[in-house]
Amino acid sequence: MNTPENTSKTTSAPEGTAVPLEKSDSQWREELTPEEYRVLRQAGTERPYTGEYWDTHTEGVYQCRACGSQLFTSREKFDSHCGWPSFWAPLAEGTVKYLHDRTMGMDRVEVRCANCDSHLGHVFEGEGYGTPTDQRFCINSVSLRLVTPEES
Ligand SMILES: [Zn+2]
Repeated sequence: MNTPENTSKTTSAPEGTAVPLEKSDSQWREELTPEEYRVLRQAGTERPYTGEYWDTHTEGVYQCRACGSQLFTSREKFDSHCGWPSFWAPLAEGTVKYLHDRTMGMDRVEVRCANCDSHLGHVFEGEGYGTPTDQRFCINSVSLRLVTPEES
């Protein structure tokens, strides 16, 4: 069964990294909108072509919607036409972490925020997009917040 409990329960903290942000489930529920909570904390997926940023070309830095950690920049964003914001690399190694995800009958690599362990999306490889890495970080808009140079 694909219950949220199966997909979002990880108790072990990553080794060798800064102490990750720890918040209780009720704190997250309070701070996030229901849609943000569903995606970020229950590894949900927003519907394609409905998110705020799938077609955005604005220059800026994409932060984690849950904790504000800087995750991606507009320089690595590209038009994948898949309906979600797509990046060919994270802002830096260590800003995101990877988990094997075998839910939904697929073998995928889940991408989470390294700081707060929130679900961001998935990363796919070797699809032939012609980007420098041939990777596609397929990220939910609702997991991100774009901060433009004027705002920061
Ligand atoms: Zn975060």
